[in-house]
Amino acid sequence: MSKKVRVRFAPSPTGPLHIGGVRTALFNYLFAKKHNGTFILRIEDTDQNRYVEGAEQYIIDALNWCGIPFDEGINKNEKFGPYRQSERKHLYKAYAEELIKSGNAYYAFDTAEELDFHRADHEAKGKTFIYNWHNRLKLSNSLSLSAEKTQAKLEAGDDYVIRFKSPQDETLHLTDIIRGDIKIETNVLDDKVLFKSDGMPTYHLANIVDDHLMEITHVIRGEEWLPSLALHYQLYKAFGWEAPEFAHLPLILKPTGKGKLSKRDGDKLGFPVFPLQWTDPVTEEISRGYKEDGYFPDAMINFLAFLGWNPGTEQEIFNLEELIAAFELERVNKSGARFDPDKIKWFNHHY
Ligand code: GLU
Repeated sequence: MSKKVRVRFAPSPTGPLHIGGVRTALFNYLFAKKHNGTFILRIEDTDQNRYVEGAEQYIIDALNWCGIPFDEGINKNEKFGPYRQSERKHLYKAYAEELIKSGNAYYAFDTAEELDFHRADHEAKGKTFIYNWHNRLKLSNSLSLSAEKTQAKLEAGDDYVIRFKSPQDETLHLTDIIRGDIKIETNVLDDKVLFKSDGMPTYHLANIVDDHLMEITHVIRGEEWLPSLALHYQLYKAFGWEAPEFAHLPLILKPTGKGKLSKRDGDKLGFPVFPLQWTDPVTEEISRGYKEDGYFPDAMINFLAFLGWNPGTEQEIFNLEELIAAFELERVNKSGARFDPDKIKWFNHHY
């Protein structure tokens, strides 16, 4: 590897960290340590509607209990400024405006009612409403604005968002370390909002800008972000930045092997899905964690490492040092990893 490895775990504080999140953090940590790199914790809290009190502290406590400490992030060696995105919000607007100047983004003033109207109108005709520059020009005046009208609206202080002008009719050939080559036809992409009317960037803009500024070399995250990969590539290209390498981790499946593991599966079958106890700040419902249920962090880490990865040998019991030495992203599976509650008990008996 030519560049110094820098990876990040970038949770949104929308609730307690579940074991899928711990596994993402763990794989980032193992990869960083294996390559003498840096493991960063970045809190992605730009969506104020989804912010949950106490979630950020929970994430930090959970990582500490699991024994996967970060090298940079929240109040710790904040080399590139604060690592909480709400404290970096002044940064992002300039980047959205840079894309407007280069012709890669535009102001949009449509109200929720106008958007609903177009959505319903398309639906009535049996079509899906795709909001992009190309379609927009064919729609009513409300969506298609001249440069003068845009300027007048900005001067009048009208609410706006900034949308990315997604390049159309491109075939993107993308690469993922785990999934290999991926081909995506872009004519189906919406022009995503980059900057919202509440003065906050969206996840997509803040995530790309921060990965660039924080010199992230590898993005290791859950499979649910795979549909955003094309947009993220296009954004890197529009900025003229080199994209990091990507690795999307397989889903964690229910014990039956069918569908994504949920908190309800844990409640129903009697195993925790959180590392530590969590008290919901609204309902005051308490969910027990592995810590309270008498599990050892090392057993949980050993178990989670095997969710989607294997060393290619018979060895199953690994301490953290051994995991670091054995870990390779190339040995992570594409297909979903079945969660087996008996297996975590088995690991716990060995510690
Ligand atoms: N904030 C996103 C999340 O909550 C991060 C996704 C990514 O790693 O790019 O999962």
